[in-house]
Amino acid sequence: MVYTDTKDSSVQINFETAVMEGMGMATGGLYVPVEYPRLSPGFLNKQPEPSFRDIALETMRHYAGGEIPEDELVRIIGDSYPFSAPVVPLDKNTYLLELFHGPTCAFKDFGARFMARVMSYFNRGENSPLHILVATSGDTGSAVGSAFHRVPGLDVTILYPRGKISPLQEKQLCTFDGNVRALRVDGTFDDCQRLVKTAFTDKELRKRMRLSSANSINIARLLPQSFYYTYASLVVRNRIPRDSKIENPAIIVAVPSGNFGNVTSGLIARKMGAPIAGFIAATNANKTVPDWIVSGEYRARPSVQTLSNAMDVGAPSNYERIRSMYTLEEVRRLFAGYWLDDEGTIQGIRDCNTRTGYVIDPHGAVAWAAWNDLQGGALERLALALNTGAQWAAGRETPGLAANLPEWTQAVLERRAVGIVLETAHPAKFAETVKKACWREPSLPARLEKVLKLPGLAQDMTADYGDFKHWLTANL
Ligand SMILES: *Cc1c(COP(=O)(O)O)cnc(C)c1O
Repeated sequence: MVYTDTKDSSVQINFETAVMEGMGMATGGLYVPVEYPRLSPGFLNKQPEPSFRDIALETMRHYAGGEIPEDELVRIIGDSYPFSAPVVPLDKNTYLLELFHGPTCAFKDFGARFMARVMSYFNRGENSPLHILVATSGDTGSAVGSAFHRVPGLDVTILYPRGKISPLQEKQLCTFDGNVRALRVDGTFDDCQRLVKTAFTDKELRKRMRLSSANSINIARLLPQSFYYTYASLVVRNRIPRDSKIENPAIIVAVPSGNFGNVTSGLIARKMGAPIAGFIAATNANKTVPDWIVSGEYRARPSVQTLSNAMDVGAPSNYERIRSMYTLEEVRRLFAGYWLDDEGTIQGIRDCNTRTGYVIDPHGAVAWAAWNDLQGGALERLALALNTGAQWAAGRETPGLAANLPEWTQAVLERRAVGIVLETAHPAKFAETVKKACWREPSLPARLEKVLKLPGLAQDMTADYGDFKHWLTANL
């Protein structure tokens, strides 16, 4: 596969270069494949549906074929995914995709573990270490730290905003020893991301050390996330005749979004033929994307802190990738935009628990609430309001559905829509919020309990690039 740069279409590189560089050094652009090949109808229509690992292999053949031998790909996929992504039915036409069964209990394990193994494959035979810089607003750091911990030849520095992630999240990313270090930055997530981006475009620094990224900006994290979209949509497609008997169903995926890497992976799966009619881009008060869908004007802004803090991103970097894949009009046909404030998020956790018995985390709750609202008539009300020229507040300053009618609106009105809600983290990672909402504390998985007992090893850092660069050159 040939990869190009979102900011310079004359760039033509292979998978290895795209993965190892992370992003366009000279342009600041992101790498994307020049095409999204379709999986064969024979594969997609197999009965029963292909396994998660089969889907992973079939997908990656297209994107890494020729550069990673098939037996290596099989090994990488096997090592990356000793866990699965269960599809849990919540009600007749709602399914939840549990993405928290990896070692750090969040969906980022899917991308990070695969990327670490691919990088380690490409790094074989090098004598100087590859330095991975990663900015995190919550779960990226621990997923990347865990995925790379003790992998020879690779070396990881995690930057996270002081006081803006949960104590458990912090423990999860600052308790690694050896090749994984954590910097506690006096600033916001956007500051952390800026420090990393500036380092990548710093020619002088890059002459001294080999740098790479591990954020969702790396294509090796994005491609593997498409596996579970393809997998879940095929599982659900096969279940519908039994569960709800809906004819001509339209599968809608509700995605709790921050940097929009997850949703971009969903777009990749759809382009490759996964039976997905559309998406709900569900965010917290950092509603840059829902606002863009409505106004057509992309306005990045400083991030604000919320209860779903892994989605506290004011300038989502994968916006550029989405724009490289689709026009604004196409995005409007595919997406409903939705946002919730903290109060709505608590209510979402509570409603989900009351109605379905499921204890959901604050991120998944935003997506569940969006889907629940759509099923409860939000699209009808929006269509009516747009028809009568009435003012539709949502998407402006009032939480809820943004003023855009996607092309699958009709399917929702005809009760043909089936939802897949992505549950991106284990609720125990946000126990306090969950307890506030449904009066009981989710039980802590053993792998989290263990981490809590380890000593924190983070070092403090200012949000100043000069300081950061000095630290890098002095310590690495
Ligand atoms: C990172 C994260 C998100 C947001 O995913 P993006 O790919 O940045 O949109 C949502 N939920 C959880 C739990 C996360 O860790």
